[in-house]
Amino acid sequence: MKSCRRCDGKCCRLVCVPIETPIFSPKDMDTLAWALAHANISVAIGKDIQHDWNLVIETPCRFLSNGKCIAYDERFQICKDLTTDNCIATKEKQKGYTDTIFDNIEDVKKYLREKI
Ligand code: SF4
Ligand code: SF4
Repeated sequence: MKSCRRCDGKCCRLVCVPIETPIFSPKDMDTLAWALAHANISVAIGKDIQHDWNLVIETPCRFLSNGKCIAYDERFQICKDLTTDNCIATKEKQKGYTDTIFDNIEDVKKYLREKI
């Protein structure tokens, strides 16, 4: 497994929340448009898993200081479970982190139109 040593804590600067796959309905589009109207919010679709939609909230963890975890020994289980083999830094390097990431509703609609 590779080391985190050369990374400034990319995985500690965002929260990914799985969401239901939206359909091209007025309700789903309005809800996503509302979410995407907020700063630092985007929607990402995972590359490998079908219907793997996530709300991505870019916000640093309170325990991140100068690129390091100051609570490393007591860090959360989700942090312990993440390895450098499946982390955002590795996947970004492989250019396969996501199929698609959207920061505005028009691009989501375009994507869904093309998929229908
Ligand atoms: S797990 Fe990956 S993204 Fe997180 S600090 Fe280590 S190398 Fe960076
Ligand atoms: S607790 Fe530590 S390892 Fe977990 S997200 Fe926060 S800074 Fe990163």
